[in-house]
Amino acid sequence: MTVPSVLIFSEDATVTQALLGLMPPEATVLPLTDVATLRETLPAHENPLLVLYLTAQSETAVLTTVREHGRHATLVWVASSAPSTAQLNALLENNLQALLDYPFQEQTAREILATALTRAQRHASRQRLREHLTETNQKLNQRLQEINAIYVIGKSVTSSFDVDEILERIVNASVNLTQAEEGFILLTEGEKLYLRVAKNMQEDIAKRFCTEASDPIARQVIHSGKPTMLQRSTKIATGYVVRALLYVPIQAPGRGTLGVLAVVNLVHDQGFTEGHLFTLSAIADFAAIALENARLFSLMEAERSRLSAILEQAAEVILVTDTENHLWLWSHSAAAELGLMPEARGQKVETCIQNAYIRELFTRRNEEHAVLRAEIDMEDGRVFNAQLSPINHIGRVAVMQDITHLKELDRLKSEFVSTVSHDLRTPLTTIQGYIELLDRVGPLTAMQKDFINKALHSLSHITALISDLLDIGRIEAGYDLEMCPFRINEIIHQAIEAHMIQIEQARLSFFTEIADEPLWIMGNAQRMRQVLDNLISNAIKYNRVGGYVKVSARRDEEHLIVSVEDNGLGIPLKEQPKIFDRFYRVQRPETDDIRGTGLGLSIVKSVIEKHKGRIWVRSYPGKGSTFAFVLSLYTPPTPEAEGGPW
Ligand code: ADP
Repeated sequence: MTVPSVLIFSEDATVTQALLGLMPPEATVLPLTDVATLRETLPAHENPLLVLYLTAQSETAVLTTVREHGRHATLVWVASSAPSTAQLNALLENNLQALLDYPFQEQTAREILATALTRAQRHASRQRLREHLTETNQKLNQRLQEINAIYVIGKSVTSSFDVDEILERIVNASVNLTQAEEGFILLTEGEKLYLRVAKNMQEDIAKRFCTEASDPIARQVIHSGKPTMLQRSTKIATGYVVRALLYVPIQAPGRGTLGVLAVVNLVHDQGFTEGHLFTLSAIADFAAIALENARLFSLMEAERSRLSAILEQAAEVILVTDTENHLWLWSHSAAAELGLMPEARGQKVETCIQNAYIRELFTRRNEEHAVLRAEIDMEDGRVFNAQLSPINHIGRVAVMQDITHLKELDRLKSEFVSTVSHDLRTPLTTIQGYIELLDRVGPLTAMQKDFINKALHSLSHITALISDLLDIGRIEAGYDLEMCPFRINEIIHQAIEAHMIQIEQARLSFFTEIADEPLWIMGNAQRMRQVLDNLISNAIKYNRVGGYVKVSARRDEEHLIVSVEDNGLGIPLKEQPKIFDRFYRVQRPETDDIRGTGLGLSIVKSVIEKHKGRIWVRSYPGKGSTFAFVLSLYTPPTPEAEGGPW
């Protein structure tokens, strides 16, 4: 703790001398003898100890001077007699600490002066503490105001999308908090810099800056990404000279510097502080957030309107759901075809769509997240082709196209093929009969026999082709498809039995895994046998010596799953979607010698679909294939009693 100075005012040199002798050694003592010097000296000393020995002539002047300039001093009154009441009042007003009798009683005088000095010292510390507290309080208030302004801006950034309003608030707050004369925001647009918002800026300059701001300091801040604070006359543009400026960059993460937030003083010299820089930088961050939000919002808006234009104009029925099957978007034609009202938004497909086929498509099990396809029958008889595709992290989109006219064409084509095939079969049977009778007419040479065999071979191929064509025509037209309940176990066993010789000839192993329980289905047993025959005969045909064929049939809750597996040639992935098409045969050297019409799998698919089932293939070239189909199980009222055709 520093010792305050001691000022002795006395016009009597003997008293001064005596007082000097009584002062503690650590005190810095300054003797004063006239009022003018006292007036000059008092303000220069912080909380001094003022020892007064006054004559009647100087008393009033000294006490007035002390009152005016020495309110912070601690007084010791030296007198040969006790002070009058008026004197005492005046002294008490001026922080009187002690009365000292003259002539001095040395020991008592020393003690009184030492105590007064200590009091002056305490008074000084208290005074300093008070000043420090006042200063801290002011600073705290200032910070509080700044934080409050930043908070208000932050709140408006998160609660409003009106970027102009937010930027205006930002500039106003910047000007208020820094007590600047002007404030503005310059933003970049490509290579150009333009004024976005300004407060108190001269109109002609603001107009000029709106089209293009030629401010070199702003360019430098944008280029470096660092703030600039200047306190000297600086020319920002022609006719625009400022005395102090503070520019902070507006930076968005990942997008660099978007512009500058600036405050300037044109008239006053008063510069800006580090505190202002800190506050403005925080505010500039909010400006960046507001600008980024506005950019993202307008991008989103553009995307949204593009999407709604697509959905509005697309001829297809489009349905978009989340992963939980809640419907969120649909096209105009979806609304028209499926009667979707705006209230359907957010509802489950099962709740808001009546069409059973669409509901089935959306609820179908699809662990592999594959694209699902289905034909959708509409109430008015039209048929739509639907494709349901997964969209990562969003949900699924179904696109449906009206294929009624294509189906009709297909039907006409099938009818035509069926008629022609039927008409072809009759003469072919006649030709075959005559060829088989040839050896009865007379002995045949070896070459004639060979020719006859070749002709019969080709005839059987044509007959097979025609019978497949006829079958497909009939299945698709719905002929020969009377449905009744039967146990598929028996059909599977019969199909296996019929192929045993072929299996042995091809030197293949054979396995089965068929459930013991009766697996009832409602269907056409004859066509189902055809399905199994085709699948098993393919598994044999497209196999290799030493390979195996395995047939399985099991219940899966309410469904039946049948699969025919082989470890033969397999099917290349890109061919797999086409093998169910009519006449499609995979072209590759290994299968060149294997005979076939390319109709077997399309018959299989048609039959399964007529039974409201589904068929699929999983195949790996060189490793083998598994064809599997699923059908609904039928629950007969009294299964055993009911029997069936098999
Ligand atoms: P195809 O009369 O040619 O056998 P399908 O319609 O039965 O006609 O089969 C179409 C094509 O699918 C075949 O040509 C063959 O390339 C392929 N394929 C069918 N089943 C198998 C299988 N089990 N293994 C390998 N390829 C097969």
